[in-house]
Amino acid sequence: MTVCTRFAPSPTGDLHIGSVRTALYCWLYAKRHQGHYILRIEDTDLARSTPEAVRVIIDGLGWLGLTADEPPIFQTKRFDRYREVIDAWLAKGIAYRCYCSTERLAAMRETQLANKAKPRYDRYCLQHQPSDPALPYVVRFKNPSDGQVVVHDAVLGDVVFDNQELDDLIIARSDGTPTYNFTVVVDDHDMKITHVIRGNDHLNNTPRQINMLAAMGAPLPIYAHIPMILGEDGKKLSKRHGAASVLEYQTMGFLPVAIINYLARLGWSHGDQEIFSIDELIQHFDIYDVHKSPSAFDMEKLRWLNQHYLKTLPPSEVIPYLQVHMQALNLDVTKGPALELLIATYAERVHTLLTLAERARPYYQNDITIDASLLAKHVNAEAKQALEVLSVKLTALTVWDLPSLQTALDATLADTGIKLGVWGPALRVALLGDAASPPLAQTLMLMGREKSLSRLAAVY
Ligand code: GLU
Repeated sequence: MTVCTRFAPSPTGDLHIGSVRTALYCWLYAKRHQGHYILRIEDTDLARSTPEAVRVIIDGLGWLGLTADEPPIFQTKRFDRYREVIDAWLAKGIAYRCYCSTERLAAMRETQLANKAKPRYDRYCLQHQPSDPALPYVVRFKNPSDGQVVVHDAVLGDVVFDNQELDDLIIARSDGTPTYNFTVVVDDHDMKITHVIRGNDHLNNTPRQINMLAAMGAPLPIYAHIPMILGEDGKKLSKRHGAASVLEYQTMGFLPVAIINYLARLGWSHGDQEIFSIDELIQHFDIYDVHKSPSAFDMEKLRWLNQHYLKTLPPSEVIPYLQVHMQALNLDVTKGPALELLIATYAERVHTLLTLAERARPYYQNDITIDASLLAKHVNAEAKQALEVLSVKLTALTVWDLPSLQTALDATLADTGIKLGVWGPALRVALLGDAASPPLAQTLMLMGREKSLSRLAAVY
């Protein structure tokens, strides 16, 4: 049996970070078993589905490297197939036409509620079909009326549902369009899905889907319902908590590998290991090890992981992502230090690519503006005197490297006798417009000869 998983988003909004985790688990599980992973766009809700949302899903998953093993499948391209199955089910008596008017359904519901009964369709149309078959109708699935459905869930264990609780579900509306639970069943069957991994907000749909698969004589997939991701207040992670969509994490400057590693661990563990390569995740991930209880999103941990990757990945793997942020800030990467050097110098000091790009600004821009209050606070007469001496020594350097720069800084200290605490911040303000920076020799190194000398000359 080839393991086959699917991620089945509805393209009605942002790609939620919780959905990305579902996609990741589907992808990892398929990879682990040399299986097949499908992206199925569930776009049958024509009023709410948008092409932009489809783009966000495809781009977001592509950015994270969670690519499917075949082009995305769109449910709207499968209406003929759904029609064919509805006709077959009608012919076999698995489904029936229901002509009940909304008034009749509303009155029935009212009576049931008044009798403290659970509102459900009374199957009137199973016995009564109208004399005029041209009347509008919906199609209902004939759900078993008694017995139980047991969902053997890979995460939650056995979950039991009474068929009495389940209605005869509408599978086609009066305009002929198929409904959600039905299309999922047809697709999971046609696409030979072996493992349905999805958010546990779908758990209540599962007994209905199992009944439909059973009525078709189809094998049941293994279900795995994963708990939701919570915000720090214990409520479902949403916009209110800050970022919930994957694009926002991209904009904030997270690396795909950090997000993957973070989401994999959010709700799953393998011993005490915190950091996994993608290969290790593929090797160890098991849907049966996913935790039952919801996990809370921890931004600080994600930031820590991101910095870990900034510090440890080969710079060539960080540069393409950093360039996107540099471009967004209109920085010309050819007008400043090599990005390898920038990353090596700043990885200890920043957690995100966005902050790195912001800190990089003075190294790549021709001019900087220095806040008057910073100048007044740090660049006093004594500091200026030291900067002028330093400037002479820097001008005389034949090579602009860390040892030569350090020698020039040491000599300035020795020759002027002015404390570094006086002119160090002044040098930083002159170079960057900011009193904090990496060590002075490194800052000068990154800034380069030309910009360093002209910026020094501008303040003393
Ligand atoms: N389209 C559904 C959603 O976006 C998922 C359906 C499923 O995974 O079965 O919530």
